Amino acid sequence: MQANHRRGSGQSRCGHVIKSMAVPLLKMLPDVQNLIALQQADREILRLREEIAALPKRVAVIEARLAGTRAVLEKAKSAIKADEASRRKYESAISDQQQKISKYRDQSLAVKTNEQYKALLHEIQFAEQDIRVNEDKILDLMVSAEIREKDVKAAEGKLKAETAEIEKEKVEARQRTAEDEKQLAEWNAKRDTARAGVDADLLRQYDRVAKHRGTGLSEARDHKCLACQVMLRPQTYNEVRAATQVVVCESCQRILYYDPANDEAADPAAVARRRRAHPKFESSQAWYYRANFGDHGEVFLVYINSKGTSSRQVYDSSSGRGLGDVLVREGEYRLAFPEDLTDDAIRLNGSWSESELEEWGNELPTATLDALHRDLDLARAESHSRSRARSQAAVSEHPAAS
Ligand SMILES: [Zn+2]
Repeated sequence: MQANHRRGSGQSRCGHVIKSMAVPLLKMLPDVQNLIALQQADREILRLREEIAALPKRVAVIEARLAGTRAVLEKAKSAIKADEASRRKYESAISDQQQKISKYRDQSLAVKTNEQYKALLHEIQFAEQDIRVNEDKILDLMVSAEIREKDVKAAEGKLKAETAEIEKEKVEARQRTAEDEKQLAEWNAKRDTARAGVDADLLRQYDRVAKHRGTGLSEARDHKCLACQVMLRPQTYNEVRAATQVVVCESCQRILYYDPANDEAADPAAVARRRRAHPKFESSQAWYYRANFGDHGEVFLVYINSKGTSSRQVYDSSSGRGLGDVLVREGEYRLAFPEDLTDDAIRLNGSWSESELEEWGNELPTATLDALHRDLDLARAESHSRSRARSQAAVSEHPAAS
């Protein structure tokens, strides 16, 4: 936070004296400046501590993933081992049956009766069938072995990549932590310096509120405490701006400060510089301001184009109350109401839905009225700077004139 972007005098950049500047001194108390530094240090310290605490958690997440991949690999490998054991079992069953068959064949040479021969033949067929069953099982295992090999290869590749990643993460986390610790030490030193520069009672107030609300300091802007959003009494706001004593927000107890660099409303030049959206030439809804509208004085007018006809409603510009009835005429509004659109009529931004307009009835809501006034101010500031630029251009073209 820089404290030196205040303006020394009540002069704007273009050299005009700002008459409305009720508060001549735009400065900050040293206590408050130190509190701003303290608040920044407190925030940074908190952020760095959180970051330092979060780094091991990130490594732990990857480590858990790594353990998961390792388990998948182990499972795939033990499945292969189990298949190999099964295969040996089937192979030995086959060789057992083959031995039986050759034994039966030997016996069949010595049999005496047809029944005995048939019985042996039956045993041989049975053994052959069992061999085929075991052979099928071995074939199944061979097919699934290819899949299992692929599983193992995939898990091994993943494990390798994850191991590399975790090593990288660990190195980064170590570096980051070291860098954070260094910054933390710096911010702690800044914090000590800032605290030493603040009055003890004020520091107690700051600490007490910060403990309960997270922050002990708040900027006052646009008549509000920015931390709790409560409107400040005009006297309180002026006291904060004057910066001659420490002021506390009555609502949240935070110590208030005012930074003119952040307050556009206090700087008319900034308001004029702010870009204004330009009303669209073709639109179904058009708002205008007239400074002198018959007997009514200052008014806002809205025209709605709809299906070949246009309507007009007039509102008092200070109260927002509707004046007279809605007028409907044939044709687009510029053709239908030419007498309204005099040279001094100012076209404004404004586009509200038809249902909103209907809901308002015969009176503009405050928010709408405020929006129209704000746009009017911007439009005037814009035309002012345009005409000045024009007259300056005229002067430089004709130096002899005037
Ligand atoms: Zn507050």
